Amino acid sequence: MRRIFIPGRLQEKFYIEGPDAHHLSHVMRSKPGDRIVIADNDGHVAECEMTAFSADRIEAKLVRYINQVTESPVEIILAQCLPKGDKLELIAQKATELGVNTLVPLVSDNCVVKYDAKKAQAKRDKWQKVANEAGKQCSRDVLPEVQPVQALKEWLKAAAADDDLAVCMCYENEEQTGMTEFLRSLPVSARRIAAVVGPEGGFSLSEAALAKECGISSVSLGPRILRAETAAIAAIAVIQYEKGDLGGGCAGE
Ligand code: SAM
Repeated sequence: MRRIFIPGRLQEKFYIEGPDAHHLSHVMRSKPGDRIVIADNDGHVAECEMTAFSADRIEAKLVRYINQVTESPVEIILAQCLPKGDKLELIAQKATELGVNTLVPLVSDNCVVKYDAKKAQAKRDKWQKVANEAGKQCSRDVLPEVQPVQALKEWLKAAAADDDLAVCMCYENEEQTGMTEFLRSLPVSARRIAAVVGPEGGFSLSEAALAKECGISSVSLGPRILRAETAAIAAIAVIQYEKGDLGGGCAGE
């Protein structure tokens, strides 16, 4: 479930305004009745329902507070190019245990698997079921959302336009910037982080070029070439260690 941060304190009824309202209405195409996780400035987190939409703001109501003992202080999005076989189930399970909030399955140039719309929905349901089971097993307060299968190039452009989302592309050919360096370069206020991971065949040169054009940093996960599923798990672990709650420390200390 998408999470946004609002200034001030959560109320029974409140408004979402500015870039978040625009993103929810026009990019995420949210509608009345859709749920969202809201984190306020006092550290409260709640599941809320969007009730009414107008041109520049969204009316919402508080449904239930989330004790967020098991929710990381950062919102993590894993944008994963479709790997072969049932590897995305493994990724969904491990990513959930590590605290991911959203899993975006992507079709990219070097993806071997191609799903037609019907199969893609069945696969999405399966991945969501795996994430839900993993979420219950590890006592997540909020179950991750598995989004519909999307095209990598479209997703990169939309992510780059999301002003409060820090995006990095885990790129096997990156030799300059490590993921740790990228994360440490982010402002403390960066609380939404996305990592893009390629399929077994890696990213094509045009995909890497597009990411660069969009201002998305490519980052290295080290000198070894990791399997796609290993890279996905490692990327989330590094983000959670550096910015979240992995290792039990308090983030940002
Ligand atoms: N076909 C590529 C090659 O042989 O160089 C390998 C792709 S790798 C199996 C799958 C994905 O994992 C990559 O696209 C990248 O997203 C990620 N990955 C693997 N090793 C990485 C590394 N050392 N640094 C950053 N990303 C890595």
